[in-house]
Amino acid sequence: MPDPDPLALLRDLVEIESPTYSLGVHSMAVRMAEELDALGGHVRLLDGDHVVADLDGEGEPLLLLGHTDTVWEEGTLATMPFRVEGDVAYGPGVYDMKGGLVLMLEAVRQAGPRRRALRVFLTADEERGSRTALDALREAARGVAAALVVEPPTAQGHLKTARKGLGRFHVAITGRPAHAGTSIVDGASAVEELAHQILRLHALTDHERGVTVNVGVVHGGTRENVVAAYAHAHLDVRVSNRVDLERLERILRTLEPTIEGTSIQVEGEWTRPPLERTSAGQRLFVRARAIGRELGLELEQATSGGGSDGNLVGALGVPVLDGLGAEGKGAHAHDEQISLSALPVRTSLLAGLLADPGL
Ligand SMILES: [Zn+2]
Repeated sequence: MPDPDPLALLRDLVEIESPTYSLGVHSMAVRMAEELDALGGHVRLLDGDHVVADLDGEGEPLLLLGHTDTVWEEGTLATMPFRVEGDVAYGPGVYDMKGGLVLMLEAVRQAGPRRRALRVFLTADEERGSRTALDALREAARGVAAALVVEPPTAQGHLKTARKGLGRFHVAITGRPAHAGTSIVDGASAVEELAHQILRLHALTDHERGVTVNVGVVHGGTRENVVAAYAHAHLDVRVSNRVDLERLERILRTLEPTIEGTSIQVEGEWTRPPLERTSAGQRLFVRARAIGRELGLELEQATSGGGSDGNLVGALGVPVLDGLGAEGKGAHAHDEQISLSALPVRTSLLAGLLADPGL
């Protein structure tokens, strides 16, 4: 049942464990649909447990983006229960982003009858790159004036006006096996070749340009006395802009082996395009900063190394302001937490934006 007490609702949502692609995500979707329905929304539950709700109001609609899934496996509550200690609420997904969902519902309630028309989209698999939500998300972004994302702000409380693009790639190397003692010269080591490639790939990291390459997983070879016939690696690649996305893509697709007799196959894709700063996005931030000042908040903007649905919507040309969720820290970490005393002011900030006829 819809619950107007934010803390009770927060507890309910955190206690619905909802790792991506679990039944819990369906329960989250049903619960959020009830809450949005109680706010007068025309709610639809889509295949894949995504939630869309249209709420009548003034002017061109604003798109509110959130997600119902978390990175926490079922059973996490046993060791990491929802709990409140003083000003702080702890629990799996409380910061990323169940606190943001509570704040969003509360802001819609507070924004009053003269607020903007709204479309709410809650993705069920955001933590896995929103793979099943892409088409519906594009559809939902059609005709909106701007997108406001209730992902958490940075640990310093900054809003997010740019986000890195993210690619996940797999590099597979085929070599030629041989006896490491009697016929090593006949072999071509896939492991040695992978070592060359790892150094080459890591050297592409350029913090100034906002480019990072991390080979996070490697496997290769069979036994120590066999020249390795096969080796492979999984890598995470992040870029700040389109130009670097295309440059890195080119480099990855044309990796050349150093060792004769080895070959390289690269697979993978960009799961999030970069969200770059635009003048329309900056206008949103300036409005938010002005509203924040009236509330005693000195807001700054930051670039996030992680992606969100804001990246996907931003790539469609929709102005995006991200980081409007709950203040806290420890996303995806065991001390995940939000500040309860900061909830009202962040709620008022979002409510102010929802009521802004200029966005
Ligand atoms: Zn999130």
